[in-house]
Amino acid sequence: MIVMKFGGTSLGDADRIKNACNIVKSKLKKKPIVVVSAVSGMTNMLIKLANENSFEKRKKISAKIKDKHLDILKNLNIESSLLKEDLNELEDSVDKIKDNNIDAKTFDLIQSFGERMSSKIVAAQLSNIGIESQAYNSYDLGFLTDDEFGSAEPLDITHSNLRKEIKKIHAVPVITGFLGKTKDGQITTIGRGGSDFTTSIVGAAIDAKEIQIWTDVDGIMSTDPKIVVNAQTISEVSFAEAFELAYFGARVLHPKSILPAMKKNIPVMVLNSFNSDHNGTTILTKVKQNDSTVRAIAYKKNITLVNIQSTRMFGAHGFLARLFNIFEKYKKSVDVIATSEVSVSLTVNNDKNIDDILNELKEISNVNIRENKSIICIVGEGMRNTLGVAGRTFSTMGKNNINIELISQGASEINITFIVDGNDTDKAINALHKEYFGK
Ligand code: ADP
Ligand code: ASP
Ligand code: MG
Repeated sequence: MIVMKFGGTSLGDADRIKNACNIVKSKLKKKPIVVVSAVSGMTNMLIKLANENSFEKRKKISAKIKDKHLDILKNLNIESSLLKEDLNELEDSVDKIKDNNIDAKTFDLIQSFGERMSSKIVAAQLSNIGIESQAYNSYDLGFLTDDEFGSAEPLDITHSNLRKEIKKIHAVPVITGFLGKTKDGQITTIGRGGSDFTTSIVGAAIDAKEIQIWTDVDGIMSTDPKIVVNAQTISEVSFAEAFELAYFGARVLHPKSILPAMKKNIPVMVLNSFNSDHNGTTILTKVKQNDSTVRAIAYKKNITLVNIQSTRMFGAHGFLARLFNIFEKYKKSVDVIATSEVSVSLTVNNDKNIDDILNELKEISNVNIRENKSIICIVGEGMRNTLGVAGRTFSTMGKNNINIELISQGASEINITFIVDGNDTDKAINALHKEYFGK
C-alpha cells in the first residue's frame, strides 16, 4: 500500500482534479490510499468567511465558495446533489455566526468544509474513470485529536484506529487531510498545511511502502523556486534535513509530517502533479553525500525579533525558566534564540498573543521588538564535517551589504540560521544560492 496526497495546488480546477485522478489510476497496482487538501485557495476563502463581520459580505463569500464547487462538479459531469448537504450545512453554520464573535470551535468547523467537499469530488471523479472509490472524513476513520482548535494534536489512539478502519476498506479511499475530531465529537483542524501531517500519520498507521506528496513543483528544491528561478530539484534529502527545511519555512512540506514517516522508516517522495514523469525528491533516513555541503536554503518571512535585557539576570538562576514560562503560557513557539549573560534575543511568528507576551516580559526585563524580519536557514548534512561554511555564508551577506541581526547554529550541526531585515530576504537568498549552487 502507498499513500498519495494531493495538495490544493493539485486540485485547482476540474482539469487539475482529472489529472490527479489519472495519476492515482496509474498507481493502482500499489494499492493507493488517497489524502486530499481542500481545492486550491479554499481554506483561505473559508477563513475569510469566518472572519468577516458583515452579514452581507459573508453571504457574498459563501456564494462564491458554492459557485466554485458547483462549477467544478459541472465540469466533471458530477451531480450537484453530491455536495448539497455540505453546502447547506456550511450556510447554516455561517448564519449562526453572531457579528464579531466567532469561537475557535466554529472557526474549525467552517474550515472543515474545504476538505469534506474536495474528498467527495475526488472520489466521485475516480468513480467516473472506472475506479471504485469512496470518500471518508478522517475522523470517521478514528482520527481523534485534543481540543486545541486550530492546531490540534492527534491522540495516540489515532494510529491504531486508522490501521483498523483502513484495513476494512476495499475501494480506493479518499480521506480528508487537515481534520480531526475531539473525543466528544467536535471537528478540529491540525494547523495550516496540515494535510501533509495527516498523510504521514496515515502512512505510518498502515505501514505504507511509500508516502507520495503531490504538489506543484518538481520536489524539494535548493530553495523556493518562486524566489530563485534557477532553483534545482534535490533528488535525495535525509529526514533530518527535510525537517530543518520544513521547520524553517520550506512550505512544500509541513514540519510535523516528517516524524511519523521517519519513525517507521517510510520513504517520502515529493512529486509534481503538473510534471508527473519527474522523479522529484525522495526523503530517506540515509542519503548519498554529494559534493555540495549545503543541500538547500529555507526562509520564513514576517518574523518578530524580541530582544530581552535584564541586569537582574546576571547570575540569577531561574530567570530563563521564568522567561520561557511566559512563552509557554501563550503557547508561542520560539524559532531562533541566542543568549549572552545579560540578554536573550529570540524570534517568534508575528501573529497571535504578541502584545500579551510583551506586557508580561516587561514585568521582568527591558524588552524591545523589531518587526518584519526574516529567518534564513541553510541546511545540509555535509556541513557537519566541513569547516568554514559559516564564514562563507556571512561573508556572502557582507559582500552584498546585508546586515545580520542574529545568528544561531543548531546543535544538530546541519543548519546555520540567521535573521535579516525583511526587505533583504530575496536578495540574501539569491546571493546564497549563487554562492552554493553557482546560479
Ligand atoms: P500544496 O498545496 O501542494 O500543499 P504548498 O503551496 O503548500 O502546496 O507547497 C508548495 C510550494 O512550496 C511551492 O509552490 C513553492 O513555492 C514552495 N516552496 C518553498 N520552499 C520550497 C523548496 N525548498 N522546494 C520546493 N518548494 C518550495
Ligand atoms: N487546506 C489546508 C490549508 O490550506 C490544509 C492543507 O492544505 O494542507 O492549510
Ligand atoms: Mg502544503
